[in-house]
Amino acid sequence: MVPSSDRGPVAARIAHAPSRAREAATLAPMDDLLPGLRGQERARRRLAAALDRGRLPHALAFVGPSGVGRALAARALARALHCAEAPRRGCGTCPACRRIDAGHHAGLEWLRPADGARTISVEAARDVRNRAMRAPLEGPAHVIVVDPAEALTVQAANALLKVLEEPPEGVYFMLLCAGLGGLLPTIASRCVPIRFGTLPAAEVESIMDEHLPELDGKTRRAALDLAAGRPGEALRLARDPSVPALLDLLAAARAAVAEGPSAVFAGDGGAFWTALAAAAKATGIKGTAGERAAALALIDLWALEARRDLLRAAGSGRGGAARAARLLERLANARAALERNASVRLCLEDLVLTLADDAPCDAA
Ligand SMILES: [Zn+2]
Repeated sequence: MVPSSDRGPVAARIAHAPSRAREAATLAPMDDLLPGLRGQERARRRLAAALDRGRLPHALAFVGPSGVGRALAARALARALHCAEAPRRGCGTCPACRRIDAGHHAGLEWLRPADGARTISVEAARDVRNRAMRAPLEGPAHVIVVDPAEALTVQAANALLKVLEEPPEGVYFMLLCAGLGGLLPTIASRCVPIRFGTLPAAEVESIMDEHLPELDGKTRRAALDLAAGRPGEALRLARDPSVPALLDLLAAARAAVAEGPSAVFAGDGGAFWTALAAAAKATGIKGTAGERAAALALIDLWALEARRDLLRAAGSGRGGAARAARLLERLANARAALERNASVRLCLEDLVLTLADDAPCDAA
């Protein structure tokens, strides 16, 4: 790990900041760091302390589930590194802070899978590495957020190894990941892990009500329930206009599993297929592509529910973990088949019948 030099560009920028702002930053309580990020007290304090010592690690891994504030934290750190008005905190209102928030600052870049892809390509990783070698490009720092770091292919990860180990002065890598186990050991060992956890239900509810005060009760309850402590996920669900139809489809799918073969062989007028048609329409995509999109979204929603049940079972010590884990496996198989372009109807039939077969074992 390469610590920031006291003579580095960040420190230089701090030294030249207006004295009143510098004083305010010195006196600012740690809670001023990462405004907009809720909870995550430990992560917040560790990062604030590192900034105050001028020793923010150059490679950080933000470890935790998606939707709990890892990306918000990365953006807030970029503000803290670039802001001249409130050095080491970020004022949120100066041109640099506002351009970072709007995604228009060359000192913050995101390395993500390209649209429609699930992995980050080696070409994209090389581009980022080459820019990092010439950085900082704007302002005193260059922040690279890899989101999610698990999406790096082996070649892409290897392309970043050297720059992760010895980044140029002012370059910071922030790798967002669910767990260090999903990264190459050579990558994980170069990062300082910062843990992010789920939020208490009351906190997620208050975030939802701040952002979406007009939300209808049914969608609100479902989003809160399925997101299980992840406010970003709750907001994403609540804002997705196809979610109400998908919730109906999920209910119909569960009913079909309980009913067994007659539910899927009832013809197009059966409740399950009617719900699929409605959800396909809600996606706004025409024809079988809409049906496929709805089926994939159903599986993702169902998996969200299964993961929530898995977490609850693990937390409570009660049973249900094995059932939830098997359901997740079945859903992953169905998803893979749908992605291979298998028939949507056959995939869903197979899924419902397999789960109906599982049900008696679960009851036993
Ligand atoms: Zn600012």
